Amino acid sequence: MNHGEIRARHYATGQPVALTWHQGVIQSVHPAAQTGDADTWIAPALVDLQVNGFAGVDFQQDDLTVEHLLTAARGLRAAGCTRFLLTLITDEWPRLIRRLKQLRELRATSPELRRAIAGWHLEGPFLSAEPGYCGAHDPDLMLDPTPDHVRELRAITGTDPLLLTLAPERNGAVEAVALASSLGIKVSLGHTNASAALLQAAVQAGATGFTHLGNACPQLLDRHDNILWRVLDTPGLTVSLVCDGIHVAPGLFRIIHRLLGAGSIFYVTDAMAAAGSPPGRYALGSSELEVGADGIVRRPGQSNFAGSALRPIDGVMRAARRLARPWREVWDGFSVRPARWMGWPTGLDVGAPADFCLLKATPAGDVRELNVFVAGEQPA
Ligand SMILES: [Zn+2]
Repeated sequence: MNHGEIRARHYATGQPVALTWHQGVIQSVHPAAQTGDADTWIAPALVDLQVNGFAGVDFQQDDLTVEHLLTAARGLRAAGCTRFLLTLITDEWPRLIRRLKQLRELRATSPELRRAIAGWHLEGPFLSAEPGYCGAHDPDLMLDPTPDHVRELRAITGTDPLLLTLAPERNGAVEAVALASSLGIKVSLGHTNASAALLQAAVQAGATGFTHLGNACPQLLDRHDNILWRVLDTPGLTVSLVCDGIHVAPGLFRIIHRLLGAGSIFYVTDAMAAAGSPPGRYALGSSELEVGADGIVRRPGQSNFAGSALRPIDGVMRAARRLARPWREVWDGFSVRPARWMGWPTGLDVGAPADFCLLKATPAGDVRELNVFVAGEQPA
């Protein structure tokens, strides 16, 4: 079926609408006299710009197959997310490059994967090696970025969307931001203890984001001057937040929203293989991580968080609960805003992909039913 119509209540307006699509693209959205079911909402599908693995599949492994990637993509889709950036974390540069090439080749063989894996997020290896700031990444493998690194990344990924998270205090990083931006690579700052002046220099060079603010920093920070204050005091950055309700303390989560406004915030899961799977031990690259009954991902025996086991649909509902807002009001933070920040068509608008969620949920965010459509179709 390459065209169709669906009636439901529009998540933003609350009004019944009839939405039509043709060849995977939304063609019209009109008010409708009634919907098939007054309890069913329609909302754009979720978009996650930071996914390290999902449904038992770790994207950092070298023996992945198309089937593995489909398992992860379908797990994400069942959790409301139809487009994501496959995220690779710090590793030896040649291995990272090989991995990226292999993943790109796998993706190319499957239309389903080409649609789901919207592009790539390279988080590392140009990050701070300082304890706390390096997070779950191996500090021994971190590097200073060179123009050759940036050009190699662009050459491998062609015109695919590419997001690069780097720490501006690395030697050559500000120049790398400028070069990356000129090549159409989106740059986000993160895993960093950069000074205010360096953050500003990176923004002037073209950086527009800050990756998972409130994480990848030590548990104890200087009350007068720390990376949180500096980022919050730097205009021009859109920040991502891990919205599991655990990575960012509830009060800080609300304060960041009050300070920056929702328009400068989007949500990510930063999910690893354990997401969508039961508690236990899972790989993230060469590390083994443990997911407790509390759903928190840690290095065994340590207290620092490392990635999340969050499903996107649960993330948006948890964000709503933390903000004490109806889920319909925060939904854009995990759908329209990350997509728009990447420059992708989005929303329940004419010309956007007909990727949407039909859901029944209480105002408090208990999801009773979730059906996810990709290009107007509901895959089996
Ligand atoms: Zn990180």
